Amino acid sequence: MEIIGDIKNYDWGKLGSESEVVKLMQSGDETFIVDEAKPYSELWMGDHVSGQSKIKGTGEMLGEFIQRDCDNIIGGQSKLPFLFKVLSIRKALSIQVHPNKTEAELLHAKYPDIYKDANHKPEIAIALTPFLALCGFRPHSEIYNLLKFHTELCELLDVDNIELINTNGTEGLKTCYTKLMKSNDENIRKCINGLMIKFENDDSKLAVVFRQIQKDFPYDVGSLSLFFLNLIELHPGESIFLAAKVPHAYLSGDCIECMSCSDNVVRAGLTPKFKDVENLLGMLIYDGSPAKEKLFQPEILDRNHKFTWIFKPPVKDFAVAKIHVPSIINSYEIINSKFGSIILVVSGEAEMCGTEMESFMLKRGKIIFLPSKVGPVIKLSNINHDFICYQAMYNDF
Ligand SMILES: [Zn+2]
Repeated sequence: MEIIGDIKNYDWGKLGSESEVVKLMQSGDETFIVDEAKPYSELWMGDHVSGQSKIKGTGEMLGEFIQRDCDNIIGGQSKLPFLFKVLSIRKALSIQVHPNKTEAELLHAKYPDIYKDANHKPEIAIALTPFLALCGFRPHSEIYNLLKFHTELCELLDVDNIELINTNGTEGLKTCYTKLMKSNDENIRKCINGLMIKFENDDSKLAVVFRQIQKDFPYDVGSLSLFFLNLIELHPGESIFLAAKVPHAYLSGDCIECMSCSDNVVRAGLTPKFKDVENLLGMLIYDGSPAKEKLFQPEILDRNHKFTWIFKPPVKDFAVAKIHVPSIINSYEIINSKFGSIILVVSGEAEMCGTEMESFMLKRGKIIFLPSKVGPVIKLSNINHDFICYQAMYNDF
């Protein structure tokens, strides 16, 4: 059945029809009206209470629909374990980390107003357009060299602390990052001013991103995290998986995102919101690894589904399939999870049919919720152009 996603207009979103969220909505619904001055940051697809999808036609909330017959709709689960999104980013999102399940429960019990969920929030991002992100700590030697190279950072963090990265590895890095996050505003301002002068005519990636972040978040300590975290550029179709405790930030571009159904975020910078420095520093994983190791690879489902690539993270709550059927193929079978799934079409057209469902024309921008009762096999026929869709489901692979 067709559903309508919930649009978020957070300040960091791309404006008007620049936004991938708007482009998809307009393709799926000719009557969609866009406000060019407004940011369209996210499209939520799922039953999370903070942004539920609605059923097209009846307007019923997806969560209510599911609750009426959990057995037949989501295979006896109590709610969807995942939240599926499209993100369209003009301005960096906060540097953040997500707690693991135990930490999430503790934080929620202690600070229910700040941490509204008791669930963990691992997430995966798959680029739809060139996508820039910060992800995990750089290798220790790389951080050491970067910090030593810039006298402004040596001054702020203290050379003795920086040397500890060489001699004490993760503990040394923790000391330096703690020193950074606890530095006073005046020292941070001085350091950033020095770097801004130095980077004025520098067109290295690091300098360009540093200047951009300064423009959006002047003197925010988060911009200095650039020297600690891997700067990753994803090409369309490439992906990163963010496990618990890995620091990250999305900087620009459009992506598909899927996560455990939660909203738990501990923030460290690039945000006007509350920065929980103590919890953050205690929670982070201080291991370093090269940017290229952060890329998360999908696998072909099996011999009978050679156009289906599965992104299978090491958590049960979700997996994402990318289905790309070339236009020369006329029909193709896709799978459905026994707990139901959600499909977002990003390109092409196809007719879809399964048990207990009427045939339905899929095209770019359409969002389909497939209840478990439609069975494990869905048929696509009359495929036009290259057909590409993303499908979020429970990870029982
Ligand atoms: Zn995140």
